This record gives sequence, structure tokens and C-alpha cells, in this order.
Amino acid sequence: MQYDYIIVGAGFFGAVFAQQAKEAGKSVLVVDRRKHIGGNCYSENFEDTNIVVHLYGTHIFHTNNEEIWKYINRFTEFNRYQHRVLTTHKDRVYAMPINLGTINQFYNLNLKPNEVEAFLEAKREKIAQPQNFEERALSVVGRDLYEAFFKGYTMKQWARDPRDLPASVFARLPFRTTFHDSYFDDKYQGIPLGGYTPIFDRMLEGIPVELGVDYFAHREDLHKRGRTVVYTGAIDQYFNYELGRLNWRSVRFETERRAQEDFQGTSVMNYADTEIPFTRIHEPKHLHLEKTHTPNTTIIVREYSLMDNDRPYYPVNAEEDRATLARYQAMATKERNVLFGGRLAEYKYYDMHQVIGSALQKARRELA
Ligand SMILES: Cc1cc2nc3c(=O)[nH]c(=O)nc-3n(C[C@H](O)[C@H](O)[C@H](O)COP(=O)(O)OP(=O)(O)OC[C@H]3O[C@@H](n4cnc5c(N)ncnc54)[C@H](O)[C@@H]3O)c2cc1C
Repeated sequence: MQYDYIIVGAGFFGAVFAQQAKEAGKSVLVVDRRKHIGGNCYSENFEDTNIVVHLYGTHIFHTNNEEIWKYINRFTEFNRYQHRVLTTHKDRVYAMPINLGTINQFYNLNLKPNEVEAFLEAKREKIAQPQNFEERALSVVGRDLYEAFFKGYTMKQWARDPRDLPASVFARLPFRTTFHDSYFDDKYQGIPLGGYTPIFDRMLEGIPVELGVDYFAHREDLHKRGRTVVYTGAIDQYFNYELGRLNWRSVRFETERRAQEDFQGTSVMNYADTEIPFTRIHEPKHLHLEKTHTPNTTIIVREYSLMDNDRPYYPVNAEEDRATLARYQAMATKERNVLFGGRLAEYKYYDMHQVIGSALQKARRELA
């Protein structure tokens, strides 16, 4: 049989597109080279613990978009989790993003909101046009806070000196002069009650899925089996790296089961200092306060950052990457019967709600 759509990738882009196409009466086959559906949002119950672990890092769902919230709620209910991040610096724990509480604790002060601006102004280095991450940070928070919370963490995360990163990377980080310490401000936020994988099970209900199938090993055959291919893999790989490789930051996870009730008292703890090799520790049981877990047991996941273009997680998006991407995108527009979408194919840092929105939009346009 020839399918209307062959979808390469069972992450959010592929699953949403597949679900929409099936709902519109089209025949669909989904393939993924991994042994599971869900892409980087895949979660599973860890052994007998009843603790849901996000295998590719803690995922918090958040959106302001009513339509996307309604759509995702067709496939799951959410708990009321609100994300807060803490960071450890020299054995003390501070709230992130930097806010009035962090500043007061760090300097051992009791500044009021109307005093903090003048205090920081005295700390800031006067750099008229910051040219890189470090200069931007020094001109916004001053040297003490920069060195404590940004310098080491950024070096670990990007494996580069912050002076070699664009100022725009710092501009993306939230920074507050109130006590507001919630990480996201979106109207809707939470964790799916059963984790993320059941969402994909429901989206892909009635759709054939072939796992452990790499597009590149079956390319010709897959194009014969479908009228249109929806490709959600890496765009440079699709074109056999003809114009060179796009750069990706990668992460590596180390999971440990521990015989204790609570390891760190929160879901995500950052580690700011370079002497500690990992960037964060995740403790997933804290994402599900509504659940009962096996007593005296917890799971922790240490996250290490590394540069590895073969295991793409975060687009580096340096100037040379943007130039290469534009050329690949021009090639993509000439491909017949292939649609490109999602984080890897668009080389874009999408959050989940954004990739869902993008898939809904592209599916609507295609299926109209
Ligand atoms: C560590 C981390 C934490 C994150 N935290 C959050 C968060 O808290 N909140 C949030 O909203 N977002 C978060 N995100 C972003 C979220 O993971 C993405 O928005 C989402 O996974 C993108 O979906 P996708 O379908 O585009 O890509 P993916 O999930 O990567 O899916 C692509 C799929 O394509 C498959 N594939 C690739 N190449 C081939 C091939 N050649 N053949 C067959 N199959 C192939 C892959 O195996 C994969 O399953 C986080 C991301 C990371 C890396």
C-alpha cells in the first residue's frame, strides 16, 4: 500500500502531524530510529519506583496559547506543578533566575525593590556596547554576580569562554529585581499526570509506527511507500552534510537510584561552579507531588553538557551556522513531496508548545 504520509520521527512534530493527518482521513505511517516514541520528551516509569523519569532531561510544559493548551489537553491531564530552579554556588543554595531574594542572600542584605536598582548600578561595569556574553553580563549584573552564577555555569554549558559567546545568549536569561522566583510566567503550566509517553500513545492511536528504522537506511523504500515524506530529522544530514555540518550542543545523563526519601528537595538543582563537572541534577519525583512513590527511594539524574554534532540537543546557532542553515533551507524548498519540520529539521530551539503550534500550523496548511 502507498501511504499519503510517511512521517520520519515520532517526537512532538511528527506525532502531532500524524494525528492531524489521520483525523483528516489520510493514511499515515510513522518511523523512528529510536526504540521508542516521544522523541526527546520520552518518559518512563523507572523500575518498580513509580517515579516517572524524563529520559532526555526534565520537561516542563508551559504555554500562553489557549489553542495549544486545549489541543494538548485532548491527550492528557496535567498536575499543578510550577517550575522553580535553584542553583548551588560554593555549597549554598540560591534561587534562579537571579531575583531580589538571590541578590539579598548573596550580599547578605535586605534591599527593598526600590533600592535594588541603585545598588546594582553601582556594581555594573560601564560598557557602552557589550560585544559578548561576558560584557553584557558585567553591564547588567556586575562582576560579583556574573562570576558566581554565570561564568562557570556558562563555561560548562557551552564548553566556551563566555567572551566567545554572543551577547544575545545572556539577553535570553531572565533577571528580576522583585522576589518573583517562578521560572516561567505562562498562563498554563504543569506536568502530564502519567508523564509524556502516554500523550504520544494517544496521539498515535490507530497509526502504524515502525521503531528502530533509520530513514537513511531505508530512504528509497520509504519514499516509494508514501506520497509525501514529513521529515523531522537533522536538515544537514538529510542533504548528506553537502554544505558542512551545523553545530549542536549536546547533553549526557547519568541516572542513579538511591535508597533515600529525598536527595535535594527540588526537581532541578543547577551547579554554578566549574569544580563540579555536571551542570544540573534532576530529581524527577518532585515533578509529581500528586503521586505516591516507593518509600525510601529516589532517582537522581546528573546532566553533563558537551559539544557533539552527532547527538543534537541545542542548536548553537553561531553566525556560521546561520549562513549554512540558510543554504540548506534553500535546498529544502526545492525538494519535491518532502515537508521539513521540528527542532532538528528547522535547526531551531523550540519548546514543546512551540513545536506543537508549528506542527498544527503546517498540518493545517498541508491538509486544507
Ligand atoms: C534537555 C532538554 C530539556 C528540555 N526541556 C523542555 C522544557 O522544560 N519545556 C519545553 O517546552 N521544552 C523543553 N525542551 C524542548 C523539547 O524537547 C522539544 O521542543 C521537542 O522535543 C521537539 O520535538 P521534535 O519533534 O521537533 O524533535 P524530537 O523530540 O527530537 O523528535 C525527533 C525524532 O526524530 C527521530 N529521527 C531523527 N532522525 C531520524 C532518522 N534519520 N530516521 C528516523 N528517525 C529519526 C528522532 O529519533 C526523534 O525521535 C527540552 C529539550 C531538551 C534537549
